Amino acid sequence: MLSSASCRLLPHISRATKTVKTWSCTSYVIQSRHYSNGEMQDLVVIGSGPGGYVAAIKAAQLGLKTTCVEKDPTLGGTCLNVGCIPSKSLLNNSHLYHMAHSNDLQNRGIEFDNIRLNIDKMMEQKRASVKALTGGIAHLFKQNKVTLAQGFGKISGANEVTVVKEGGEEEKISTKNILLAVGSEVTPFPGIEIDEKQIVSSTGALSLEQVPGSMVVIGAGVIGVELGSVWSRLGADVTCIEFLGHIGGLGIDMEVAKNFQRSLTKQGLKFKLNTKVTQAEKVGDKIRVSFEGVKDGKGDQIECDTLLVCIGRRPFTKNIGLDSVGLQLDERGRIDVNDRFQTLVPNIYAIGDCIKGPMLAHKAEDEGIICVENICGGAGHLDYNCVPSVVYTHPEVAWVGKTEEQLKEEGVKYAVGKFPLAANSRSKCNNDTDGFVKVLGDKETDRLLGCHIIASVAGELINEAVLAMEYGASCEDVARVCHAHPTVAEALREANLAAYCGKPINF
Ligand SMILES: Cc1cc2nc3c(=O)[nH]c(=O)nc-3n(C[C@H](O)[C@H](O)[C@H](O)COP(=O)(O)OP(=O)(O)OC[C@H]3O[C@@H](n4cnc5c(N)ncnc54)[C@H](O)[C@@H]3O)c2cc1C
Repeated sequence: MLSSASCRLLPHISRATKTVKTWSCTSYVIQSRHYSNGEMQDLVVIGSGPGGYVAAIKAAQLGLKTTCVEKDPTLGGTCLNVGCIPSKSLLNNSHLYHMAHSNDLQNRGIEFDNIRLNIDKMMEQKRASVKALTGGIAHLFKQNKVTLAQGFGKISGANEVTVVKEGGEEEKISTKNILLAVGSEVTPFPGIEIDEKQIVSSTGALSLEQVPGSMVVIGAGVIGVELGSVWSRLGADVTCIEFLGHIGGLGIDMEVAKNFQRSLTKQGLKFKLNTKVTQAEKVGDKIRVSFEGVKDGKGDQIECDTLLVCIGRRPFTKNIGLDSVGLQLDERGRIDVNDRFQTLVPNIYAIGDCIKGPMLAHKAEDEGIICVENICGGAGHLDYNCVPSVVYTHPEVAWVGKTEEQLKEEGVKYAVGKFPLAANSRSKCNNDTDGFVKVLGDKETDRLLGCHIIASVAGELINEAVLAMEYGASCEDVARVCHAHPTVAEALREANLAAYCGKPINF
């Protein structure tokens, strides 16, 4: 039987890719150019986020004459400009500061005085990573002969995209296929106006000029706890208010969520769960946030210097000309597609945050690649059960596949294998033992069904579990693979050992 990964192999499309040279940043601002020179394109991609830019490059590599339309002055979309990349830069550097400030480094024998935070420099480092990576895409477009069209892209017919440039000038591009990769935007909180200074969305929270004395975060999902962690580590008193009864958003394993909350609470973050924010108003130089218990309706208030509204993102699908070809949005503003990413108009496709599924950069990228391979005649599909999730706090949290709650609901009999980092030699050497690896295997077949990790390197480690699941591995398969010593990955091996024969070696 073919594994789901080998099913992805397309009969007539080589998987070989060209060597990607190291990115060098020349200019990160898109140069307006002759778009398609009036030539019929094979593919016009609207949006240059991780979905759109990856799809455009892949399409060009497969020989399609490709244009990518982008409305913003820099390429890379949410992910590179105001998402994954700047947040991870701040998470990394605030963690280093926190290690120094909380005596963690001193306890390791690294002594120094006068620890000071230079927030301007930290932000400069963040901007430098963003600039290098967004500029890298412009370079890759050039290298792969993807044409750039700067402006707002709109469908103006099944075979035509109109690009509205700054100043209102329009250019029409004829094309055989259209791929919508228009992404998402911050979901507003009704009645709370974002000024991106004192009341901020994730975008403003990535660029605060000073560390606030206190911060309230509405929403303790992935982005809320990541950005809450950044400002808490830098000195803010952070309280996260969450409607659900747990942190980490939907899809997280409940045992992991509880342990994760314990870790973040130890670091100083405060949580109000099962709590609904009802209002926020400016009172003097403070923000007063009103909330009530979801279960008991009991109301209360809290004041803060900065309010971060982090209740999710919604598809950015307005005014893109869907009606010109008779396409409609679903009830959540998403573009409806089949499993080949085709809309009801067969040569118009959509991928990434603007369609159903988790709003993740790697999900958008994979959809983009599979979509263009299918346009070229392939038959690929994406196994959403094998799309991992990562929260880049310290420790990180990562998971793939089913949670215990889901398996119970589906009536699947499963075995649990767990291994604590406190018993992992590398974690011990690193004095970084907060967390565990938990795997869920099918009780009858031993097939790996899910993996849930709390560890400082969970985001790296999860990829081994994803690979195993993609190839339909059993827990025994993973446990029998030789793992380098000493590594945190040995904890994954031990957890699999525990799942298939009940006994790890080192615990
Ligand atoms: C703070 C934060 C942190 C995040 N961290 C992570 C993370 O660590 N890992 C992860 O996987 N995901 C993360 N995400 C989510 C991730 O950024 C998105 O899932 C991802 O960017 C979606 O990619 P996309 O290509 O679908 O859309 P986007 O990245 O939103 O890109 C869409 C692009 O289309 C352009 N566009 C839209 N409409 C038009 C139009 N009509 N004409 C021309 N151009 C148009 C936009 O300007 C944009 O450049 C994070 C998000 C945020 C906000």
